[in-house]
Amino acid sequence: MADSKLYDILGVSRNASESEIKRNYHKLAKEFHPDKNPAAGDRFKEISFAYEVLSDPAKRKTYDKFGLKGLQEGGQGGGLSTDDLLGHIFGDMFGMGGGSRGRGRARGEDTIHPLKVTLEDMYVGKTAKLQLSKNVICGPCKGVGGKPGAVVSCRDCHGQGIKVTYQQIAPNMTRQYQSRCPTCLGHGETISDKDKCPKCKGKKVLNEIKILEVHVEKGMKEGQKIFFRGEGDQQPDVQPGDVIIILQQKPHDVFQRTGDDLIMKHDITLTEALCGFQFVVQHLDGRELLIRHPPGVVIKPGDLKGIQGEGMPQYKNPFEKGNLYVKFNIVFPENNFGTEEQLQKIESILPPRPAFVMPTGEDVEEVNMMEYTASERSRGREEAYASDDEETMHGGPGMQCAHQ
Ligand SMILES: [Zn+2]
Ligand SMILES: [Zn+2]
Repeated sequence: MADSKLYDILGVSRNASESEIKRNYHKLAKEFHPDKNPAAGDRFKEISFAYEVLSDPAKRKTYDKFGLKGLQEGGQGGGLSTDDLLGHIFGDMFGMGGGSRGRGRARGEDTIHPLKVTLEDMYVGKTAKLQLSKNVICGPCKGVGGKPGAVVSCRDCHGQGIKVTYQQIAPNMTRQYQSRCPTCLGHGETISDKDKCPKCKGKKVLNEIKILEVHVEKGMKEGQKIFFRGEGDQQPDVQPGDVIIILQQKPHDVFQRTGDDLIMKHDITLTEALCGFQFVVQHLDGRELLIRHPPGVVIKPGDLKGIQGEGMPQYKNPFEKGNLYVKFNIVFPENNFGTEEQLQKIESILPPRPAFVMPTGEDVEEVNMMEYTASERSRGREEAYASDDEETMHGGPGMQCAHQ
C-alpha cells in the first residue's frame, strides 16, 4: 500500500521525472526557506525530506512500493536522514505517532528507577544488579489475549474504550462526562471468558522479573541517567519504552563532590596550625593518603589547600582526575588553658601586639564585653525599640544586664 504524500509535498505526480522533481524542489525550497518565510514552520523540513527521498532512486523505489512505513523500516540501518528527523517527520507531520526513534508504532512510557550509589562506587566503578518487574507479551497467545478471532470490539462503548454520559445541570443545559468503559476497562475490546488465553487470562501480557546489570562507570555523577533501550513494559502494538536508571549519590562522611573535584573539611588544633601536622585520609579506592604540612607555615581558619589529581575520575576519561581540596577549621584551646606564666611564654614567641594608646578625657567609658548569642541579641533589640527612651536606645538593655 503506497501513498503519494511526498509527491504531493513537492507538487509533482507519481511518475514525475528526476529533473521535474529537482525543479519543483528548488522552487519550493526557495519559497519556504525559514530565512525568507519563517511563518511556514515545518514546511521547509517536509520539502527537504520529500526531496531527500524522491531524489534517491533506491529510496524512491522503496517509498513507491511501501510508502512511508517502508522508509521507516528501511531507515533503521540505511542511509536515510537521522532518526530524529525521521521521528519528527513521521510523528508530527504525518500523524503516525512515531516515537523519538522513528518507528511506526506508538511508544510506551519509560520506566524510571532511582539507583542509590556511594561515592566510592562512582570512583572505582561498579556493576549493580537491579531487579525489576516488567510486563512482557504473553508467549502462548502472542499478545492476542485469546484464541484467534476471540477478541471482539466492546459492545458497550463501540470499541472506543470510553463512555459518554450526560447530566442535566439546568433546563436546556447538560454537562458531558467521559469515563473509562467499565466493560472493557478502556481497552475497547473484550474477550469472552471461555476464549481467554489460559496463561495471561486475556491480559495479553505477563509480569516477569528481570535482572538488569547496571554499569556504574568511573566518574559518573549524581542524577546521571543510564538507558536500557526498549526494556520498558511491553504491550501489544506498542514499542516498549526505555528503562532509565537515575543515579542518586548517598552522602559521604568525608568528601563532598563538586564536578570532578572533591572537598573535605579537616579540623586541626591551633598547635598544628602553627607548628605543622600530618594526617591520613582514607581515599575512595581504599588508599591511605598521608598529608604532611611543615612547621611554621601557618594555616589560618578557613584556608583551602589542594591536592592535585586526587579528585574524582572524569567520566569516560578516568585517568584524568579532578583535585582534592582540604578546607581547614582551626580548633582553638578551651578557656583558661594555661597559667599566666605560660601565656607570657607564648606571647614572647608570637608576633608582638599592636601598639595601644590609652585615651584620656571624660568621653572615655570602659564597657564590659559578654557572650552574646543570636537570640539574646534580637531580644535586646526588640526591647530597645519598644522604649522611647533615648538612653535605652543607645545603651541597650543587654549592656545593663552585664552589671548585675
Ligand atoms: Zn468498552
Ligand atoms: Zn496469553
